[in-house]
Amino acid sequence: AKSKGRSGFSFFSSEMNRLAQERLALENALRKALQAQELHLHYQPQIDLATGRLYGVEALARWTHAEFGDISPARFIPLAEECGLIADLGRWALNQACQQLAQWRAQGLEVPAVSVNLSPTSFHNLDLPRMIVDTLDRNALVPQDLTLELTESILLDTNPCTMQTIEEVHARGVRLSMDDFGTGYSSLSYLRRLPVSELKLDRSFVADLEYDEAARALSSAILGIGKSLYLTVVAEGVETPTQNQMLREQGYPVAQGYLFSRPLPPEELERWLAERQVS
Ligand code: C2E
Ligand code: CA
Ligand code: CA
Ligand code: CA
Repeated sequence: AKSKGRSGFSFFSSEMNRLAQERLALENALRKALQAQELHLHYQPQIDLATGRLYGVEALARWTHAEFGDISPARFIPLAEECGLIADLGRWALNQACQQLAQWRAQGLEVPAVSVNLSPTSFHNLDLPRMIVDTLDRNALVPQDLTLELTESILLDTNPCTMQTIEEVHARGVRLSMDDFGTGYSSLSYLRRLPVSELKLDRSFVADLEYDEAARALSSAILGIGKSLYLTVVAEGVETPTQNQMLREQGYPVAQGYLFSRPLPPEELERWLAERQVS
């Protein structure tokens, strides 16, 4: 508005204006995308290292916009948080992932479970447990078919409903998984208070395994913590056979990463599964 000022300022303000408009356009587009089925879930296999069989799949959101093209979750998830759409997105993902799992089961495919990422905001809603149970029922699934991935940011969440919602979801038998484990919080005491069944070793540790003794020591220590608390530890971001070998030697039960497969659209995952069962 104040474009008559010094040239530096007017440039700055028009640049700000452009960014704000771009953001607003993206925000409106995301709102529409949620309704118009422009969002999709891709599924990344998680491998049981002892048997080589499928342990589960993680659902990851994808957005292809007709005009802007592919927009990364690293961009649209924070945007959804900021503009109040993240709870809707969480509901959509839960619904979509459960429908997909039911469809796979109907096709006779053995997909043991699906993991859905939820933002802390989703846990502000005391209706979440009921909604989850309804979604499972509608799709003839049981709570053990579903895992919810949380990040340690949930611990900074001060909303009074959050802990109650988490407890209730757990009480109903849905598994909780601590995502990006080892990167966020300095104290581990929360592991006694949060009813998680699974830890996901952050992929930064896996990336450094081959080159960094400290990363090896930490991945081993994290597995030890998990084991002593009877939690499954999933190694994320496994890209190389050497990383896989090291994790196996450390005793990791489950791994996930590009070495096995990228996150895939449902039909491609079906093909991936079919090809593996032959070998
Ligand atoms: P995340 O939950 O930690 O998901 C793992 C990310 O690592 C995914 O990125 C996945 O594609 C990527 N990845 C998997 N294997 C490898 C590998 O071997 N190497 C490397 N370098 N990367 C690998 P993506 O799909 O871009 O998602 C980024 C983040 O966005 C996710 O991190 C998650 O925090 C968030 N996100 C994605 N979908 C959803 C969703 O439906 N809801 C919420 N709340 N967040 C989501
Ligand atoms: Ca995740
Ligand atoms: Ca992760
Ligand atoms: Ca992450």
